[in-house]
Amino acid sequence: MDYERLCQFYERLEETTKRLEMTDILVELLREADGDLRAVVYLTRGQLAADFEGIELGVAEKLVMRALHESTGVSEEDLTKAYHKAGDLGDAAFEVLSQRKARRRQASLFAEENQPQASMPVTEVFERFHEIARSAGAGSQSGKLSLLQKLLARASPREARYLVRTVTGKLRLGIADMTILDAMAAAFATKEYRPDLERAYNVCSDLGLVGETLLKGGLAAVEEMRAQVGVPMRAMLAERLPTPEEILAKMGGEGLCELKYDGLRLQAHIPAQGAIHFYSRRLEDLTRQFPDVAGYLRESFRGREAIVEGEVVAVDPQTGDMKPFQEVAKRRGRKNVEEVIAEVPVTLFLFDCLLLDGEDLTEKPLPERREALTRSFDLARGADEEGLERIQLSRAKRVTTPEEVVAFFEQSVAEGAEGIMVKSVGPDSFYKAGSRGYQWIKYKREYSSELQDSLDLVVVGAIAGRGRRAGWYGALIMASYNPEEDVFETICKLGTGFDDATLQAMTEELKSYQHEGGPHPRVRARIAADAWFAPVKVLEVVGAELTLSPLHTAGWGVLKEEAGLSVRFPRFTGKVRDDKKPEEATTLDEIISMFKQQGHKRVESAEES
Ligand code: AMP
Repeated sequence: MDYERLCQFYERLEETTKRLEMTDILVELLREADGDLRAVVYLTRGQLAADFEGIELGVAEKLVMRALHESTGVSEEDLTKAYHKAGDLGDAAFEVLSQRKARRRQASLFAEENQPQASMPVTEVFERFHEIARSAGAGSQSGKLSLLQKLLARASPREARYLVRTVTGKLRLGIADMTILDAMAAAFATKEYRPDLERAYNVCSDLGLVGETLLKGGLAAVEEMRAQVGVPMRAMLAERLPTPEEILAKMGGEGLCELKYDGLRLQAHIPAQGAIHFYSRRLEDLTRQFPDVAGYLRESFRGREAIVEGEVVAVDPQTGDMKPFQEVAKRRGRKNVEEVIAEVPVTLFLFDCLLLDGEDLTEKPLPERREALTRSFDLARGADEEGLERIQLSRAKRVTTPEEVVAFFEQSVAEGAEGIMVKSVGPDSFYKAGSRGYQWIKYKREYSSELQDSLDLVVVGAIAGRGRRAGWYGALIMASYNPEEDVFETICKLGTGFDDATLQAMTEELKSYQHEGGPHPRVRARIAADAWFAPVKVLEVVGAELTLSPLHTAGWGVLKEEAGLSVRFPRFTGKVRDDKKPEEATTLDEIISMFKQQGHKRVESAEES
């Protein structure tokens, strides 16, 4: 497939926000891509490989401007003007290349020759992108520049637009992974096999690989795909329920209570030989942040190879007391690892075992997986010099009565946990990769609000600040996720809980997600805003209650005609959930069930919150 052709598909995808239309276009694209399928899947997600490979193009806009300048002769000043006018560097590239094309056409008229541009195959562009990503270190800027310049020199205006968006990380076609899976099923199998594809995706976290396997080996090959050490699995997630009675009823009367640790989830891949790798729940490779944990794991692990999961929590090295999430988050982005190991000591609390010594345990009940953990770790060997065990199993207790749940909960909160997780122990209590279900139910500490849990909401817009906050955003427009339609629906305006420095930093960061000309295609909004953003950033929010609102679109028309739901008195808790993808934000279903649980307290309000 030619890159030009791929870009034509991108244009069509950009023209629609309807999931079904997008799926149809994707089906056509995937079929046409044929042997280039894997590259096409990655590129369409704006990437060069599966997420966990961590391959970033990371080309700065400045460098792209220089490459444009050198390949078109347009001065950087004029380029900056074109950029400001268009608001998007890809569109600016389109403009200047269209002008170049017109000039060339004129020149060739006089010369009475017409040289058609040689087309660029997708595979070639893909390979150049990889080269750009690989060129790091000394002299990397000039290497990147020349690669990019060569690409742009051959590109059509349309190709330039998407080349530029891709290398700057701004190709946002607004296609969810689940839509790509729908399209793969429709393109190469039938819809009924969609769950098989999703299962395969959940174990390998690599859409390109699933597509390629399906194309080359058919469904049989997809069904053969299994968990592997070194290939992160998509995380299993928890539902929530408001009372211990309901939780136990859902679990058939018995469950395993565990502390809900307030840290970062790690999926640890322990190979028979070589380095241990850690992945976040977003499948980012966090290995470099936790070399100390890797060391303690190696010491304490008794098996040959494994995939285990746990929560890494900052602790006080003297007392072993747990510290809140914000502490362990300090390890992110720090270059001097030795220093940060001493500054933020951590303990890993293991709670699951997905694979042990070649055996996939995801389809074994939880008690068996837990037993595998107990069997394969000698925790005393993972102690530090002071004797504090840096690898532990999550504290857990089998419960059968609501009183036991409450007692466990109270003790956990006193120990510094966020709340508890209650997990099913029945014969089908499997590890369901990539899904949120009632096999795991979270029960959190009540905040000082009446809402029984905090919400994880996505920033989709902002209102300019006034007075003291002039010059940066004064409030953010937050949205919950509607997975059925794959859109983000606004639910509140959030201006409380930020200090000035945070708001200022947030304003800077949000600029790079800005979407010109109204809400992003995946955002549904009815209120006015001064800026709109691609749904990327997730923040934790608490609030007083949920009310019906004519201004917000979350659950529009579901509970009442011409009304959505909104959070009253929302407040930012200070937790930026960089570990969550926007699709992992609180969902519409969760919001609706929280609203219903408020029962008698429904207040109808036209008030803006
Ligand atoms: P939430 O982020 O509120 O949806 O809760 C799910 C998260 O809780 C998981 O992704 C883990 O990071 C975290 N967690 C803390 N303790 C546990 C535990 N014992 N079992 C499972 N997850 C836990």
